[in-house]
Amino acid sequence: MEKLCNMDRTNNLRINVGGTIFVCHSHIFKSFPESFLANLEKQEPNYKNDEYFFDRNPHIFAYILDGFRKGSIHLPKDVCGTTFKAEMEYWEVSKEHVAPCCWEALYKSDEDILTMQKLINDCEKNSSFLMMQQKDQSIRNRLWLFLDEPRSSKYAMAWAAFVSVLIVVSTLTEAMTSVPIFHVNYTESEQKIIKKASEFLNWDESSYEKMMTMKPQPYLKLADIVCHSIITLEFIITLVVCHNKMTYVFDFSRICLIIGYFSFWLKLILQLEEISLKSDIAIKMITVFAYLTVLKLARLFYLAKHIPAFYVIRLTMSSSKTELKILMAILAILICVFGTLIYYAEYPNSKISNVFIGMYWALITVTTVGYGDYTPQSVAGHVIAGACASCGVLILALPIGVIASSFYTFYNCNKYGTKHYDHIKVRHN
Ligand SMILES: [Zn+2]
Repeated sequence: MEKLCNMDRTNNLRINVGGTIFVCHSHIFKSFPESFLANLEKQEPNYKNDEYFFDRNPHIFAYILDGFRKGSIHLPKDVCGTTFKAEMEYWEVSKEHVAPCCWEALYKSDEDILTMQKLINDCEKNSSFLMMQQKDQSIRNRLWLFLDEPRSSKYAMAWAAFVSVLIVVSTLTEAMTSVPIFHVNYTESEQKIIKKASEFLNWDESSYEKMMTMKPQPYLKLADIVCHSIITLEFIITLVVCHNKMTYVFDFSRICLIIGYFSFWLKLILQLEEISLKSDIAIKMITVFAYLTVLKLARLFYLAKHIPAFYVIRLTMSSSKTELKILMAILAILICVFGTLIYYAEYPNSKISNVFIGMYWALITVTTVGYGDYTPQSVAGHVIAGACASCGVLILALPIGVIASSFYTFYNCNKYGTKHYDHIKVRHN
């Protein structure tokens, strides 16, 4: 039996791949001796009328054949790496023959498949996603989807938009209550309460005077109460119809939210009860609840939940743990080195009186924030400050670039994945 690669140099070979005829010298197959083509035999069932026929992709075969001629394979830009790998497997050409410039094209698709898989897994873990696939749904399921999954219907989308607007409005009204033009004077009984509160909290005279003028306009208060009533009601209904209450509640942002809303309403009830205000405990409780209502800010996570970019940021952070560790390690090293250096360079006459202040200065400088509350005075100090700022720009940018590119990959995969599922949904409806 005569192997083709042992044939005469002038021996031309006709290979028909998917209807396209390729003619080449048989000796070129010696380049990759392990390949299928190097070991072709005339008894091959595909051999007929002086040509070999293979029902494969001729476009990709052209690149593989070119690899035989040149000794290394380069990938076409318009073919997915996974498809190319499948063709290489068919022709029994080892991946080691792919030129280094095309490694990215060859393996990039593997990474994309992994990223996609991660997104799909994350999506399927979400119970709403599975529920959306079901045809017949109970009222409880419908209500849950309506409240928790804006993508489930047009009405759910409109409701999510409405709740988002309420959250924004109530956050804005709260911010407005801190601006003097929205303030009115307290009534006499209220002034007494503030006096008590100021004694309890040990305020000085100026803080007390300031507090006396900080009563928000009644309409702001009303708007805040209306917004909170709807948001709290929505939260309670969601909790009631939720199938997995434990996992729903034991989430950091939701625990904050529950404490925040609870404090808000308790504070309001206590403030409405005139009699309760006469007792010290009520004043103390109102003060504590007033501080705890800050936790309501966790509702802003609700807005984040419905914006794909935030979901992608969460995935990026969880998949970029290595880069984040590198970033933290670099930051820690730079802070220690420059913090210590600036302390000794500025010693003894400087505001940077200990190494920890030096480290704080290094952190603010290396992150290019530069408050200017601590500044170097000596020549050596200025040189170190320059080096510190330069290091911040140059070294910290490197891992951030990797995290950004990972974000970009996730963002694109999420974008095209959503498009794909929307397309499927339209076809099924
Ligand atoms: Zn190449």
